Parts: sequence; structure tokens; C-alpha cells
Amino acid sequence: YDADRGNGTLTQCRARGRFRKERMSPLDGDWVRFSASGAQGMVEEIEPRRNSFIRPAVSNLDALVVLASGANPVTDPFLIDRVAAIAGNQNVPVVLCVNKTDLESGESLTHIYRHAGFPVFPTSAASGEGVAALHEAVRGKTVAFTGNSGVGKSSILNCLGFSVETGEVSEKLGRGRHTTRHVELFPLADGTCVIDTPGFSSFDTEQMELILKENLQYAFPDFAPYLGRCRYHDCAHLSEPGCAVLEALAAGGLGPTRHASYARLYEAAKEIRLWEHKQP
Ligand code: GDP
Ligand code: ZN
Repeated sequence: YDADRGNGTLTQCRARGRFRKERMSPLDGDWVRFSASGAQGMVEEIEPRRNSFIRPAVSNLDALVVLASGANPVTDPFLIDRVAAIAGNQNVPVVLCVNKTDLESGESLTHIYRHAGFPVFPTSAASGEGVAALHEAVRGKTVAFTGNSGVGKSSILNCLGFSVETGEVSEKLGRGRHTTRHVELFPLADGTCVIDTPGFSSFDTEQMELILKENLQYAFPDFAPYLGRCRYHDCAHLSEPGCAVLEALAAGGLGPTRHASYARLYEAAKEIRLWEHKQP
């Protein structure tokens, strides 16, 4: 592990054996206390994490930027909802970027997610439109980007000043660019840090399996005003009578695609529990 003193000075560290015993190992993004003698350091303490992910193994994200596009390729809202639920389950704020506005306004996606209460930034990596506003939203934060392939993730990162393709940023840090299995943190001069990992572009099912069906409702921030108001305290918000979530859906307070994604993810979460049950 490379531990940073906060000024870019890196110390090669090993983790104390007790971390392994506690089935806990340092993650990229962790705040740690470490001791050092000479060039070798030892991680002594890991501060409590605000959030953490298994694959990619990172912690303490300030936000997850989900990239989408209204054109070529059109992003399926379900993909956004699934990844937003994973982030929501970990209390990571989601920022949506609707890219390629030079080709298509992306208005329907923008509408869905503004209605659901997410910050939405329409951008065009081609014209530069909206990129400054997106930059303001992530300035000084540690963020990860995800999105279906082709929506312009690399292009947007380059617009923001991260040289993802050329690896210039990495070279400045004196590190190689070819350790792609490893999570890398790319800092900008303004303190914005992007976590670049192959995992975040296809980061979904494995994390999804960790959300219990009972917890899924809390991973949808737009459901929050209605939770606890259903007739049955264990309401799944699918077809129950007296369900406040379904009433909000019928009244237009909740978007139909959001609820449809919830129902689909709920079914998936149920399957996984059953499957786990059958394990010896
Ligand atoms: P990634 O797979 O998400 O990293 O997508 P890339 O950044 O590699 O972009 C995929 C393709 O879309 C490339 O041909 C880009 O030039 C193009 N592209 C990316 N952003 C935009 C945009 O805002 N407008 C237009 N017209 N094309 C874009
Ligand atoms: Zn309900």
C-alpha cells in the first residue's frame, strides 16, 4: 500500500497482521495512521469509513458521477438506477452527467433524474458545454466515474483535465500507468481526485448482490418522503394496499421508471437471498 502524508509524499506500507485476522484490509481512499522506519511503513489504524466498495476496492468516495447519454448509445435508465442504488446503499451521493448534448438534448433523462432529486449536468465533451458546471460540482472531491461504454467517460475526464488516455497525470506522479488492476487516484491541482479503475465501468451485479431487499427502498433517495407511511410496516412497495410509495407513483410524485427499476432490483435481490439460503 502507498500511504500519502497528504502532500504527495508516498510511503510503502504493509498492513499489520491483525487486520487480516479481523478480515479487514486497507482500501484505496482509506484514512490511515501508519508508522515508518526508513522506507518501510506499517499501517496501524484505519479510520472508520464513510462508505466502501468491494470491486473496485475503494472507500470514502464523496460522490459517484454516473455518465449517461441521450444518443449513441442511449443510456437505459435502469442502468443508471442500478448503479445509483449501489451508491445510495453506501450513502454515496450520485451526480448524473448527461453527455453528448450536441447530438441529443438528453432531456428525457435530465427530466427523470431532476425529478428524482439528483443533481444533473448536461454536457458535451465535443463542444465543452456544461463541463465547467460539472467541474464545479466535483471540485475538491474524491469521485469515481461510471457509465455504459461509449457515453464519453474518457472524453469528459479529459475535458476536466485528467489525462486518462495518455497517462500524463500518472507520469507526473512518477508512477507507471500499466497497473490497471490496481485502483489509481488521479489528483488535479484543485484537489479534485478521480478514482480510475476498470471496475467502475462495469461495476454492478457483484455490488448489487450485497443489497438486502429490505434495504433497497433506502437506496432510492426519492422514496424517502413516503417511507414509513404505508399501511404495512413491512411493505415492499410493489402491489400492497395502502402503500404510500405506490400512491406517490400514481400521483406523479415518483417517476415511473424509478419505481420500475426498484421493482426489478427488488426481484433480483429476492432471488439472491433464496439462492444464498440454499447454500450449505
Ligand atoms: P467511454 O467509453 O465512455 O470512455 O467513451 P469515450 O470517451 O471513449 O467516447 C466514445 C465516443 O463518443 C468517442 O468517439 C468520442 O469521441 C465520442 N464522444 C464523447 N463525448 C462526446 C460528445 O459530447 N459529443 C459527441 N458528439 N461525441 C462524443
Ligand atoms: Zn409501501
